[in-house]
Amino acid sequence: MNPTLASAPPADRHPDDPVLSVVIPVYNEEDGLAQLFARLYPALDQLGVRYEVVFVNDGSRDRSPGILAEQFDRRPDVTRVILFNGNFGQHRAILAGFAHCRGERIVTLDADLQNPPEDIATLLAKMDEGHDYVGSIRRQRHDVAWRKWASKAMNRLRAKLTRIDITDQGCMLRAYSRNIVSLINQCGEMNTFIPALAYQFSRNPAEVVVGHEERFAGESKYSLYSLIRLNFDLVTSFSVVPLQWFSLMGMAISAGAGLLVLLLIGRRIVIGPEEGGLFTLFAIAFFLIGLALFGIGLIGEYVGRIYSEVRQRPRYVISAILEQKR
Ligand code: UDP
Ligand code: MG
Repeated sequence: MNPTLASAPPADRHPDDPVLSVVIPVYNEEDGLAQLFARLYPALDQLGVRYEVVFVNDGSRDRSPGILAEQFDRRPDVTRVILFNGNFGQHRAILAGFAHCRGERIVTLDADLQNPPEDIATLLAKMDEGHDYVGSIRRQRHDVAWRKWASKAMNRLRAKLTRIDITDQGCMLRAYSRNIVSLINQCGEMNTFIPALAYQFSRNPAEVVVGHEERFAGESKYSLYSLIRLNFDLVTSFSVVPLQWFSLMGMAISAGAGLLVLLLIGRRIVIGPEEGGLFTLFAIAFFLIGLALFGIGLIGEYVGRIYSEVRQRPRYVISAILEQKR
């Protein structure tokens, strides 16, 4: 029995609140939305629980907002649409969905049908076993080879650095209990990675295997650059280990350099001044310069993060919310 469901609903919950909220970020997905609706709503109707779908339009420049508004007109009882006035990124879109959803359990899903909506039932069944967070592992990834390889390598590194043990970080089909979403809602961080944040708050996380298909329509919004950025964010927002490694490495290298100086002085006294070895010296110098630049960049990552936190700008700007009055 799920402890969060066993207890009486907290005072701030409304009797009409749904059991399940499905939060879906949408950015330029005009070609796939009709198919998404056609599969998502029947799958949810079949669950036999009260649900809501919260679409967050992340500043799409195509017809997506109009298509979402039409869907709201079709199923206003179970559909809510949050419209951003610009593109703030997938994770902020989900954060907005979290801030506005009302469900006891919250599932996040991508709009591109890479994860089958039918698998929501699998996540919920796992939650019934008492888990407050259920992640997902893609059964067979339909992505290009370099992305599979890169995400494997990144997962390993991240698990080491942050102790966040998520098998498949790229898969957004996940289920969270209301408790966890409330905790996430209290975090004011500007750039975060929601599955990792949830994992940290979770008492009893679990993972299930879900299907993974090719994008139904449109193309991935993530370039190699933005994937690298995401991973930097992931490490720097959950761990200071890279900085600590760096200071350790700095210590080791300066100790080594100190020894080298002593050695050269000794050599000078015993054998006399050396002439050759210029290129070796270059090699060492370039290595150290490279290391120093990397270190400055790394510190910059953290400083940048602090900078965006202290500015305290709003994480997103909502231009309208389509929902039924109650
Ligand atoms: N998305 C978003 N804002 C963005 C980029 C993406 O809301 O700036 C949404 C997108 O519409 C989709 C989900 O986030 O629902 C995942 O994006 P995508 O499928 O491009 O990522 P991938 O599956 O390639 O990692
Ligand atoms: Mg996708």
